[in-house]
Amino acid sequence: MTRSERTVDVLIVGAGPAGLTAASRLAGVGAVEVLEREAQTGGIPRHCHLGGFGLRTGPQYARRLTGEAARAGARLRTSVTVTDWAGPRTLDTTGPHGLERITARAVVLATGARERPRSARLVPGTRPAGVLTTGELQQTVHLHGRRPGTRAVVVGAEPVAHSAVRTLLGAGVEVAAMVTDLPHHQAPPTDAADTRLRRGVPLLTRTTVAELLGRGRLSGVAIRHADGREAVIACDTVVFTGDFVPENELPRRGGLLLDPGTRGPTVDPAFRTTGPGVFAAGNLLHGAEPALSAAREGARAAAAVLRHLDGAPWPAEQIPVRAEDPLLWVAPQRISPGSPHHFLLRTAQFLTRAHLVVRQDGRILHHQRLPRTVVPNRSLTISGNWVDRADPRGGTVIFSTEQRST
Ligand SMILES: Cc1cc2nc3c(=O)[nH]c(=O)nc-3n(C[C@H](O)[C@H](O)[C@H](O)COP(=O)(O)OP(=O)(O)OC[C@H]3O[C@@H](n4cnc5c(N)ncnc54)[C@H](O)[C@@H]3O)c2cc1C
Repeated sequence: MTRSERTVDVLIVGAGPAGLTAASRLAGVGAVEVLEREAQTGGIPRHCHLGGFGLRTGPQYARRLTGEAARAGARLRTSVTVTDWAGPRTLDTTGPHGLERITARAVVLATGARERPRSARLVPGTRPAGVLTTGELQQTVHLHGRRPGTRAVVVGAEPVAHSAVRTLLGAGVEVAAMVTDLPHHQAPPTDAADTRLRRGVPLLTRTTVAELLGRGRLSGVAIRHADGREAVIACDTVVFTGDFVPENELPRRGGLLLDPGTRGPTVDPAFRTTGPGVFAAGNLLHGAEPALSAAREGARAAAAVLRHLDGAPWPAEQIPVRAEDPLLWVAPQRISPGSPHHFLLRTAQFLTRAHLVVRQDGRILHHQRLPRTVVPNRSLTISGNWVDRADPRGGTVIFSTEQRST
């Protein structure tokens, strides 16, 4: 089959909050095209019917962003999947009109993140029906109008897990329990109290799902507590929530440097990847953050794209940044003194009364007391007002934590 070839000014991959917001800021500077593999634009919010997007539900929010991008003049193309690279800023696509090869002056990757399903989590047992991620649950209930089962277990206790509980209860499914291997839930206290006290869903902490049971349809999950006790919870549905991994296939195939912590492409504060002219924004950079935060990144990336189109040089060398255990990751992963910004930070375990220390070559650039409890699966925002103290010719800037008496 022949592949048609064309050029545009800016090509955006992914029409979720990050891609659509970037599009509405960039349209007007030239030909701006957004490619979306789904039949509709809007990304994940399309199937988040429970509110939580400012004053809007997810579908209302998705429609608003789509309208803004279209009115600004961006060309929104759905059912078009970007499959590979054919050059530094040239992408191959497939869609209803066949194969295309599109070259752009700037590319913005905004492909989001996906939840790791049961297979990626290596949960043993049979392969029955009734095993879902939260995204699959929401699509079953909200896009296809189907009841997913009658009695469910939710694996996870971060904010998206609580959203799964509300979706299940709203669809008339009893929720037998939430299960987390961590010692506490990781949601805002009001959400956790609402799930446990008002909706009566028990939370089993320090507990893992050891096996899935049942042939044809799930009949239960075997659970194991940290002290070795085991039990079986009867259920016909299990929802694995929250374990997000960036949709990083395109950055990987394009040879862009990926961060081992986030597993998304590394970027600098201007959302520049290691590929000249290639930017990245939204959940592709770090897994699940709230939609407004993905949209904000899309807007900031758009401002950087505009500077790039105006001829701003692509930075040759920047200072690498990394996080040390028990911190999981920090983003952005490269900095230059003189560029004001902030950092997103995640921890792998609960931290109580910890201090953050930022060092370069053993010299302390910054330290601060962290909130009383720092929670896994939820990001912290750290001001970068100390970045000018870093030596542009120095070594890696390292984020670490310490327990101090004050
Ligand atoms: C179950 C669930 C509930 C949530 N609830 C809330 C909430 O209540 N409030 C809130 O603020 N946030 C919520 N979030 C988070 C929010 O949905 C995300 O922060 C937001 O959608 C991220 O936007 P994004 O643009 O980075 O990615 P996405 O919304 O994931 O959009 C990425 C788009 O890229 C497309 N794409 C990927 N690869 C390709 C390709 N190769 N070619 C073409 N297109 C491609 C995808 O189809 C997708 O449409 C929730 C997330 C989940 C999973």
